[in-house]
Amino acid sequence: MKLGLKPNANYGNLKDSYLFFGISKKVTAYRAGHPDLPLYRLGIGDVSRPLCDAVIKALHDAVDDQARKESFHGYVPECGIPEFRSAAAGYYARRGVTPDPEEIFVSSGASDELGDILDLFDPSSPALIMQPAYPAYVDASVMAGRRTLFLAAGPENDFLPMPPDHTEAELIYLCSPNNPTGAVYSLEQLQAWVDYANRHGAVILFDAAYEAFAEGDMPHSIFETKGAETCAIEICSLSKTAGFTGTRLGYTVIPKALERNGMNLNAMWVRNRTTKTNGVSYILQKGGIAAFSEEGLKQIRENILIYKQNAKVLTEALDSADVRYWGGKNAPYVWMQCPKGMKSWDFFDLLLHEIQVIGTPGEGFGACGEGFFRLSSFGDPEETKIAADRLRKLLANL
Ligand code: PLP
Repeated sequence: MKLGLKPNANYGNLKDSYLFFGISKKVTAYRAGHPDLPLYRLGIGDVSRPLCDAVIKALHDAVDDQARKESFHGYVPECGIPEFRSAAAGYYARRGVTPDPEEIFVSSGASDELGDILDLFDPSSPALIMQPAYPAYVDASVMAGRRTLFLAAGPENDFLPMPPDHTEAELIYLCSPNNPTGAVYSLEQLQAWVDYANRHGAVILFDAAYEAFAEGDMPHSIFETKGAETCAIEICSLSKTAGFTGTRLGYTVIPKALERNGMNLNAMWVRNRTTKTNGVSYILQKGGIAAFSEEGLKQIRENILIYKQNAKVLTEALDSADVRYWGGKNAPYVWMQCPKGMKSWDFFDLLLHEIQVIGTPGEGFGACGEGFFRLSSFGDPEETKIAADRLRKLLANL
């Protein structure tokens, strides 16, 4: 029999992703047995605040532009409309980082980009991923047939592992502020990673999806370090910064100084984008420009502060129960140790059945996440308060 086209066999190496599926199955079953009990959702990493007024107005105006012959836009530049690229560069400039707008590429969000960017690298270059990790890193690497090496993050290094003495990995994933652990690298720690990458010819893929939650001296960008322009790509998103999870917009920074084997990665990405995309919607980019305006930044900050207050409510409940946790200050996630040595799925069941609170079992983020549990601060403030109160009482009586 003729076998026909061969599919990408790497897909056969993917592990079943049962984390959110498993949660939803358990919640549905519980709900069926207890239809009248309210549930308190601290599991999902999706935002609950609507887009801010400045963004909504810009989106409406952009729709109107598309309705008139004189302001209508057909295709827009694949790498981003210049006004969007400049607005994103201006967002960086507030922190003393000054990318050339041509180093900023618009995207439909960080997830798309984390997968697509792998096109720039030879699939034989191994990747280093710290665990626990956002699941898309591992899966995108496996789909590309890339060998993946893991670096363990745990209480022993405050979930902030530093460069190993030696690794074969040439592509290094870093995420700070981190999902799921909420841990944040200091500037000195990021500098150590950048120095390591420059010494070894590695490239860092820096996931800055939660940069807007960093406070004080904590770095928002890998480009705050010295030398990152020769070893790093930064992947950013307006999802959590400005509530674009369902609207879809992000941007990626690839310095013009980033080269490997005589090839320029910025020029390669221009070639990639102009071949594989026709850009991102004019309307959405106008929304993004508004998010970076003075008014937009003020309004999106108000939403971030609401999430930060939720995180405070959650961490206060854990403090009062003397439970160890990480994150919650510079990140929207609180990563707690399960009490009494419980396994993370057992703790999930306990919270669901006893107090109707839904969190995320750490084991779903990799083996190193076993024994830990993620609470999200992206929920409704009133629901978060009730959930925190229930959690405090439950933990006190265990
Ligand atoms: N990176 C991390 C660490 C995330 O947690 C998420 C989403 O939750 C993403 C990337 C994806 O963000 P986006 O909505 O921009 O695709």
